[in-house]
Amino acid sequence: MSMFVCDRKTVRDFLNEQLREDERLDFLLHLDDCPNCWETVYAATKATHPHFYKRAPKNAKFTDAELKKLEAGKDRKEEIFEVA
Ligand SMILES: [Zn+2]
Repeated sequence: MSMFVCDRKTVRDFLNEQLREDERLDFLLHLDDCPNCWETVYAATKATHPHFYKRAPKNAKFTDAELKKLEAGKDRKEEIFEVA
């Protein structure tokens, strides 16, 4: 289906999130048909599980933005409350 051929470097780049988007999609398609690569990715993902926790700060940034919204909303709420 895809032109992708099993390649350990590609697997490693995928795990390090260094593939271009089109390469990544090709690889994901390949994963469906290739138990070998799937097993490699699965094992590596398990081994590097802490890596996923390192992504949490990205969510924290989003939370900061949400907090600013909440603060802005809070100010308005206080204004309304004072008027009331
Ligand atoms: Zn493969």
